[in-house]
Amino acid sequence: MEFHVRRSGPPQPYPVEYKRGKPKTHDADRVQLCAQALCLEEMLGLPVPRGALFYGEPRRRQEVTFDDALRARTAAAAEAVHALLAGGVTPPPEPGAKCRSCSLEAACLPKTSTGCSAAGWLARALREDEYP
Ligand code: SF4
Repeated sequence: MEFHVRRSGPPQPYPVEYKRGKPKTHDADRVQLCAQALCLEEMLGLPVPRGALFYGEPRRRQEVTFDDALRARTAAAAEAVHALLAGGVTPPPEPGAKCRSCSLEAACLPKTSTGCSAAGWLARALREDEYP
C-alpha cells in the first residue's frame, strides 16, 4: 500500500492498494483498503473519504468510497479477528484456487494442514504414496 496526499487544499490522505490480478467478485480488497484508511485516520487525525485499488491485469485503478456500510463491514471484520486472537485458536485453512495467489501460503501450508493433526496428515500422505 502507498498513500498520497493532495498538494492543494487541506491534506487528505489517499491510500492506493496494488493487486497483481483482476478485480474480485467479493469485497475482501475493498475491506482491506478501508481498514488501511481507518488506520490512517486514527494515526493522522485526518479524514480519509476515498482510496483506490489498482489491479495489474486490466491495469486500471478503481476508486473506493469509504461509506458507512463499508466502514461497518470493516469494523465487523476487525472485531472477528480480535475474537479469533483472543480465543488463541488458529482457524483451519480453507484450501482452494485462491491459495495460489495468497501471500500466506508458505506459512499456511493449506495442503498439509487441513484441520488435522500431524498424525492424520502422515497417515494420509502414506496412503496417497501407496495408491498414487
Ligand atoms: S493459503 Fe491459507 S490463508 Fe491463504 S487462502 Fe489458502 S487457506 Fe486461506
